[in-house]
Amino acid sequence: MSVSLTFLGGAREVTGSCILVQTGRSRFLVDCGMFQGGSESDRKNRRRMPVPPASIDFVLSSHAHIDHSGLLPKLVRDGFRGPVHCTPATADLLKVMLPDSGHIQEKEAEWENRKRERGGRQMVIPLYTEADALAVAARFREVPYEKTFEPAPGVSVTFLDAGHILGSAIVAVTVREEGREKRLVFSGDLGHRGLPIVRDPTPVRGADALVIESTYGNRVHKGMENTVEEFVHAVDHTLRRKGGNVVIPAFAVGRAQDILYLLADLTRQGRLSGITIYIDSPLAAEATRITLRHPECFDDATKEVFAWRDAHPDALKVVVTQSTDDSRALNSLRGGAIIMAGSGMCEAGRVKHHLKHNLWRKECSVVIVGFQAQGTLGRKIVEGAKRVKVFGEEIAVAADVYTIGGLSAHADREDLLAWAGRFESPPGTVMVAHGEEAVSVEFAGTLRSRLRWRAEVPVPGTPVPV
Ligand SMILES: [Zn+2]
Ligand SMILES: [Zn+2]
Repeated sequence: MSVSLTFLGGAREVTGSCILVQTGRSRFLVDCGMFQGGSESDRKNRRRMPVPPASIDFVLSSHAHIDHSGLLPKLVRDGFRGPVHCTPATADLLKVMLPDSGHIQEKEAEWENRKRERGGRQMVIPLYTEADALAVAARFREVPYEKTFEPAPGVSVTFLDAGHILGSAIVAVTVREEGREKRLVFSGDLGHRGLPIVRDPTPVRGADALVIESTYGNRVHKGMENTVEEFVHAVDHTLRRKGGNVVIPAFAVGRAQDILYLLADLTRQGRLSGITIYIDSPLAAEATRITLRHPECFDDATKEVFAWRDAHPDALKVVVTQSTDDSRALNSLRGGAIIMAGSGMCEAGRVKHHLKHNLWRKECSVVIVGFQAQGTLGRKIVEGAKRVKVFGEEIAVAADVYTIGGLSAHADREDLLAWAGRFESPPGTVMVAHGEEAVSVEFAGTLRSRLRWRAEVPVPGTPVPV
């Protein structure tokens, strides 16, 4: 029986998750993510698949984050005609996130072309368009957690709750060929235990081959209690003591809803009051509506907090800006506002305007709640840059910067080890993926020394027989 895994992205780097699985009888992808940040990402996003997209039988999508799903429109445009299997919440999220990504691609190409035209250089075409992204919707096949299905003869798949964002899944695959069986487990992105809204990651007992993420494989987040304390301090100190604004760059999906949940919970507990939060992201607003439609993904505390919020709609004021004029109006707010906008790594989107207007003011704060990849504006701010470039303009960083790691949607080293520790026997092959190279290498070492696992860090593009 021959099964091989080829990492087309997300190996020795964090973004671009995409694994080509080839068995004797079928060929499929686990995720089809976009590369983000860094100078190489555009080239990597545009390169061709090593196999014709039309020859891929199906895709298994672990979750809706763009670094796991953002190249689906390109795959379909380039000839893929099979189904994309994912959970119902993931399908709902992707139906808004992919067209939004297509729109961003078109705008970026337009902007680049204006520059190129002036320089007399050759035009670029967008990586894909909003129309390409809309065409993906017809390919979704929704499968709830824990329900086993057969996407191809001899292949059965179960999605297990990964506790990372709404609808996120661990993908468990069993391949049967020539009377033998192989179980492949893909962790997808695993959640941090105790994260708002979603449940904790589902334990897995065994696998012949395991792909495990390692985003924070060398770090330990602060506990959720400390995290909440820090968040209360950042908000209270900025709004009440300093009279400034709090800017929160947030991924539209996941962190944005966690922040809303926390503000509602803290208001319910009487720890914060009279808060107004501006959600300056139509996508985050839509993701919030989708979240509320999927209570099957909630943990128990969330059901309580959302019920309280329904009963006390005025206790926390949530203002959603729609038009760019609404968004621009926020620039004149001098203080008292929490402004949440994307993108999460400050690379694009409306948050750049808010940084431009608030970063240089010492009475304001920036609260960083998500992972910031190398090379992004968010990473520079976290690392304490005194000046940064926003829209080509030098901006001084005078605002307080709070990095609240405990709200990260990603498991830290201890979460990863706790999840791995539930395996009853070591998987035959362990591939450490989805981390900066040095982090993955270190985490593979941790798995070898702590659990005696044979863990390796795969080389992108080289098939691994399992
Ligand atoms: Zn993710
Ligand atoms: Zn990811």
